[in-house]
Amino acid sequence: MDFTLDEEQKEIRDWVRTFVRKEIIPLEPEVLRRERAGQPGLTRDELKALQDKAKQAGFFGVLTPQEYGGMGLGAVMTALLEAELGRSFVPFRFGGYADNILFHGNDEQKQRYLLPTISGERVSCFAITEPGAGSDAKAIRTTAVRDGDEWVINGEKTFITQGNEADFVMVFAVTDKEKGADGGVTCFLVDRDMGWKSEPIPTMGQWGPAALVFDNVRVPHENILGEEGKGFHLAMQWIGQGRYLLPARAIGSVERLVEMAIEQAKNRVTFGQPIAEYQAIQWMIADSAVEIEALRWLVLHAAWLVDQKKDSRQAQSIAKLYGGIKANEIVDRVLQIHGGMGYTRELPIERWYRELRLLRIYEGTDEIQRRTIARNLLKGHANIRGTLG
Ligand SMILES: Cc1cc2nc3c(=O)[nH]c(=O)nc-3n(C[C@H](O)[C@H](O)[C@H](O)COP(=O)(O)OP(=O)(O)OC[C@H]3O[C@@H](n4cnc5c(N)ncnc54)[C@H](O)[C@@H]3O)c2cc1C
Repeated sequence: MDFTLDEEQKEIRDWVRTFVRKEIIPLEPEVLRRERAGQPGLTRDELKALQDKAKQAGFFGVLTPQEYGGMGLGAVMTALLEAELGRSFVPFRFGGYADNILFHGNDEQKQRYLLPTISGERVSCFAITEPGAGSDAKAIRTTAVRDGDEWVINGEKTFITQGNEADFVMVFAVTDKEKGADGGVTCFLVDRDMGWKSEPIPTMGQWGPAALVFDNVRVPHENILGEEGKGFHLAMQWIGQGRYLLPARAIGSVERLVEMAIEQAKNRVTFGQPIAEYQAIQWMIADSAVEIEALRWLVLHAAWLVDQKKDSRQAQSIAKLYGGIKANEIVDRVLQIHGGMGYTRELPIERWYRELRLLRIYEGTDEIQRRTIARNLLKGHANIRGTLG
């Protein structure tokens, strides 16, 4: 087993590490100031300017295949880069990204939706969750009824990331009630000017998702993504393929937080000595280090399986579950080590505390990951001995 990065991988990782240190981290005080004032941390133009800077150095479409103008770096490399970006809470991401299921479009859909999304001219969102259907996604009730060459969509979606900014949505609707998720759910590409409305949902995080309303929205038949009735499978693919990316980003956040905790422990004096001298503090640092190391390998292993085109579902669920739980425990310890200051808005710890909480909820809650992991074992789809057998 060889766990070393080759020279090219190191070079790519180090470029991003330097970019984050020089271009992203210096923005933190201003981003924090704006967010505290209820404004977005970065404007769309500022984000674009940063993305253009990265693009000049070749960093564009990290996961996007080269035939679509991306770098096609693969899952392991992308996980390593996400961890680097996660070291800052500044909401930066590289440009040139499109949701994996958009690559399933036909040639015309690729021209109208996929390519403009990659180039940044268009913004998409993915909408399956409804007020009555979250974990139980099969319970969606939004309907699409065929009327000649069109479909008429009615229903409500909720918690849709980028739903306020998007100019088109990949929306999942029931097209055959009898069949339901098993052949009766279809995905439609629906432009905003076809008539759907969005409403921001305030959250405890810094960015808000949206509620979407479809009131007799008419969509041409050719806007079906993939095949009619095969939408549920597409939706599960969208979620399943990139699950490792969420805990990957968290690795960088908790590394940075523990670095802050170490500094604080060395500098803060109580009862005549630095708190770093107390075993209670040392154990919090030690446990965090062990868990970060374990998380790193869980994420890289899941990403490696994706690159090898092996079944990665169990590994991705394990990495997502462990990452969500441990990131939350670690940020809580780091806050504790900072005492009262950790609770204030002078430091960004409380901001990370709120942001990392989401990791235990979206793209499959902790409970749903546990259910998946246990079911895979109980049904024999996964082996308790793991990949090595
Ligand atoms: C900020 C944010 C962004 C999001 N972005 C998107 C997006 O872009 N697109 C999209 O479609 N959705 C999105 N979601 C929705 C997200 O995927 C759902 O919130 C999530 O799947 C949980 O569904 P729910 O909120 O309806 O909770 P529920 O399903 O109602 O669950 C409530 C509680 O019950 C537990 N539970 C449910 N079923 C079981 C079970 N079988 N066994 C044990 N426990 C169970 C859950 O784990 C949870 O603790 C987003 C959510 C948030 C908060």
